[in-house]
Parts: sequence; structure tokens; C-alpha cells
Amino acid sequence: MAESENNLSEAGEERVELSDVQWRARLSPEQYHVLREKGTDPPFAGVFTHPGPDGIYRCAACGAELFDSTVQFDSGSGWPSFSEPLVAESVELHEDTSHGMVRTEVTCRRCGGHLGHVFDDGPGPTGARWCINSTSLDLGERPPAR
Ligand code: FE
Repeated sequence: MAESENNLSEAGEERVELSDVQWRARLSPEQYHVLREKGTDPPFAGVFTHPGPDGIYRCAACGAELFDSTVQFDSGSGWPSFSEPLVAESVELHEDTSHGMVRTEVTCRRCGGHLGHVFDDGPGPTGARWCINSTSLDLGERPPAR
């Protein structure tokens, strides 16, 4: 991540703000569609649909750490499902009334990329089901001494 691409918001948070042309150059067509145009992976098609290797899921657009593999569960929905984000500050929530539904959209706080939606029918203690597109995620190694 080049230093010049990072901007600090008024709150002092690191933000990544790129033009559509820059995002198209950086992302694959599939990533651009999901992350920048709020697309949705076909169900059961994503590489992270089912829980797999241990690690930390990062935003595929900006690299922000978003979800820990230890809170991923198999929801049967066809999309990667998590009981909570790594830290609440890594994501932003927005009311989404598209497609005749009222849902809560989840975006990456650092870059604004569309991640998925969060629902309140999760099986775990949080009661939440964070339903995230595989295309929006990269799985990396867990940083040491977390
Ligand atoms: Fe991001």
C-alpha cells in the first residue's frame, strides 16, 4: 500500500480513497463488481464459503483485517458466515433497502468496499450472522502475538 494512497479522516483514521479508474486497475472484474458495485457472489461459489484454514481474513481491496477464522461457521447460506468482526471499528453498517428488503449492509471502514450484510439469526452468543462475500476477502496468516 503506497503511502500516498492513505488519507487520514478528521477522526485520524486511516482511509483508502481511490478513483473508480484506480480501483478498476487494482481489482479483478469480479472484485470490482462486488466491492465497488455492491455485487453478490453466487451462493456456494466462493472459495471461503465453508470454514477452512486458520488465519485472519482481510479486505481484498485494501488489506484491512476484518474477520478471524475462529469465529467463522457453516451457516448453510452459501456464503462465509462469521459471528463477529475482528474489531467493531474495522467495519461500517448501513441500512440497505434494495431488492425489496430491509437489510444491514457491511462495508470496510478503511476503503468503503462492500463486504456483505449482517443478520440477527446467528447461532452463536452474539446472535449475529455476518454474511460476507468470498470475493471481498483474502485469508492470510495470523499475525504473531495477537
Ligand atoms: Fe477495505
